[in-house]
Amino acid sequence: ASQAPVVTRIAPSPTGYMHIGTARTALFNWLYARGRGGKFLMRIEDTDRARSTPEATEAILRGMAWLGLDFDGEAVSQFARVDRHREVALEMLAKGAAYKCFSTQEEIAEFREKARAEKRSTLFQSPWRDADEASHPDAPYVIRLKAPREGVTTIHDEVQGDVTWQNSELDDMICLRSDGTPTYMLAVVVDDYDMGVTHVIRGDDHLANAARQSHIYHAMGWPLPAYAHIPLIHGPDGKKLSKRHGATGVEEYQQMGYLAAGMRNYLARLGWSHGDDEFFTDEQAMEWFDTDGIGKSPSRLDFKKLDKICSQH
Ligand code: GLU
Repeated sequence: ASQAPVVTRIAPSPTGYMHIGTARTALFNWLYARGRGGKFLMRIEDTDRARSTPEATEAILRGMAWLGLDFDGEAVSQFARVDRHREVALEMLAKGAAYKCFSTQEEIAEFREKARAEKRSTLFQSPWRDADEASHPDAPYVIRLKAPREGVTTIHDEVQGDVTWQNSELDDMICLRSDGTPTYMLAVVVDDYDMGVTHVIRGDDHLANAARQSHIYHAMGWPLPAYAHIPLIHGPDGKKLSKRHGATGVEEYQQMGYLAAGMRNYLARLGWSHGDDEFFTDEQAMEWFDTDGIGKSPSRLDFKKLDKICSQH
């Protein structure tokens, strides 16, 4: 086991209000780090300039402050780090772990159409993967990772166990777009590595991304973080949580008069269990919290339980 201090993070995309799913992910990361004398970091994933807004960043920071989830250091802007992301893409290129792909949108669409007609996999296989530098045109290109074509990729996940993908199902993902901006896949890996993140605890909608992200870690010779992908929060009826179930935004709960301590207790209980314990203090949650207690199936929001727990705080 590694003696390195635990470093966790929350990496929200500032594209709307602060969702209670984000709050729960933040809480799990906070508990995990705080219970182990580690660090809990905040990274605002604002690289998607068209969808990110300063108002959404403010809402996230307000929500974190209200919930009492303090993070170490300043909130890091992912966008401020694009030069570093680009540098890593170029390093992978220099190592031969990535390549310049000059295929146009039309050519890619054509490839897919042909593959579909011939009943082959429609995953794009770039003709530039093994092309000679001398054959490169003077034209816009993206940088793609040279993903393994054979074998499998297995991610050890603390919640889901070992999860395996056939490499033939994972394409050569784009790391740097033709305008020189990084994709989410590249940015998240570079940032987690540079920030020293040891444990990535996040929604299981990112599980398949972990497989592809692991290829970047391998290309750079960086150690993988430990992963724990948590099932999403569902509504009381077991369907994907939405507005029709009730409040989904952190601020709505604040406005309804819920207390932060009760919310922390309730959210900690949502998808994580510790015996039959329902009520606990932050100190107990920090001491007890571990990825072992995280359930494998989605948890259901239960407003009665929320009220019951909150009435005790
Ligand atoms: N920015 C991503 C999101 O909001 C999270 C990425 C991650 O945790 O790795 O879903």
